[in-house]
This record gives sequence, C-alpha cells and structure tokens, in this order.
Amino acid sequence: MKISEFFNAVKNAVYPRNETCDLCGSELPFKNRLNLCSQCLEKLELNNGKVCLRCGSPVYNEADYCLRCENTSSVFRFNRSPLIYDGLAKKTVLSFKYGEKRYLSDFLAKLMTDEYLKNGITVDVVTFVPMTKKEKRKRGFNQAELLAVKVADSLKLDLCDLLIKTRETPEQKKLSAKERAENMKGIFDCKSDLHGKEVLLVDDVFTTGATANECSKQLLKAGAKGVTVLTAAVTALKPYLS
Ligand SMILES: [Zn+2]
Ligand SMILES: [Zn+2]
Repeated sequence: MKISEFFNAVKNAVYPRNETCDLCGSELPFKNRLNLCSQCLEKLELNNGKVCLRCGSPVYNEADYCLRCENTSSVFRFNRSPLIYDGLAKKTVLSFKYGEKRYLSDFLAKLMTDEYLKNGITVDVVTFVPMTKKEKRKRGFNQAELLAVKVADSLKLDLCDLLIKTRETPEQKKLSAKERAENMKGIFDCKSDLHGKEVLLVDDVFTTGATANECSKQLLKAGAKGVTVLTAAVTALKPYLS
C-alpha cells in the first residue's frame, strides 16, 4: 500500500464517505445521491445549457453547431458531457485521473448516467477508449474503463472491451486540433465483429474529438450501426459565458 493510499484509508475510516462531500470533504448535513455539499454543487460547471448538436460543448448563440464542428467532420453520432472542463469540474476530473482519487468515478459516472438518460440515447453495448499496456501500467488504471464499467452497470447494459491501442500517443496537450487528428491516425483497432450494434463510447474528456473520432472509425469498420460518445467533461470554446 502506498503512503497516500494509507492516508486515504485512514481518512475514510475517520470520515466515512457518504457523510462528507466528495470534493471538499466538508460534512454533509444529509445524505444525497451525488455525495456533494451544496456549495460545491453550486460551483460545479454543469453543462446544462444549450449545447452543440454534434460535440455537446456549450453554445451561446442561435447556432446548432459550434465553430469546431462547423469546420470538422466526425463519424460518431454525437458526444454528450454533463460537465464543462473548467474550474472545479476540471479540477475534479484531474484529481480522479492523476490524483488517485478513484472514488470520484462514482460521482462522475452518476452524472454521465443522467446525461445518457436525459438525451434519450439507446445503445446495445458500452465500450471505452483503450490505453496501451504500458500506459495502463504507468497510471495503474484506465480512467475511461472505470467510468464505462460504472455507467454500464447503472444502466444495466453490456460492457465490452472492444478496442485496442496499438501504440502510445505523444503528449497531445500542446498540439493543434489538426496535429492531434494526424497523431491519432491508425492508432486503434477493433477486436470484435459488431454487426449492426449501436455502441456507446466512453472517455473522460472530449477535447478536439480526435480520439473519439478515430475510435468510432474502427467501431464502424467492425460493423457497428452507429457510435454515440459519452464523456465526463467537454472543453468549451473560449471565450464562453459561464
Ligand atoms: Zn463540497
Ligand atoms: Zn461542436
């Protein structure tokens, strides 16, 4: 057990989860489904306004699509995300992904399940964006897989490990959307025949859509009827009003 895990275990024993806010640790006056205090819930960047019909990012004018989607084509049906990747929501996703706070997957998966239901999505199978073995070993877990397991479980849907990642991706953060798309080409493969199935592809964050698009291409090539993407958070085109 790592030292940080030990301290988390002690903390969880002293302050049992379900009685403290998952984000700030303050005591909850009463239990609630998301395990969040009212202050955190109020601060959280919920993506519940008008969104781009394709990528699900917030849109603050009359347009159906955001500028990003007007200028690029995607093969998936659409992406939906309950959170905007900014402020407290971004901090939450990052501490789930890198900060060993894996319990935050419960809360993120609940929001994602609500988003699935809210959008009337119906699929036959749930899958996730894969990592290479090396990447998974380095992080200890695949954050997209963990979210997919929980979403599939709460929706009583089949979870299938459909995709493999054939090589590592160089650091994507500093690349332009075009460079990201180039970087992603031919990086994924689908292991199964998906004859006529509707697939839900789960990931943690939707940024340019390059990852989702490449995975979707492989799923469609394997016979999927359609692919819908569900992510915990989506980046907004700035400036945006929050
Ligand atoms: Zn809180
Ligand atoms: Zn868009």
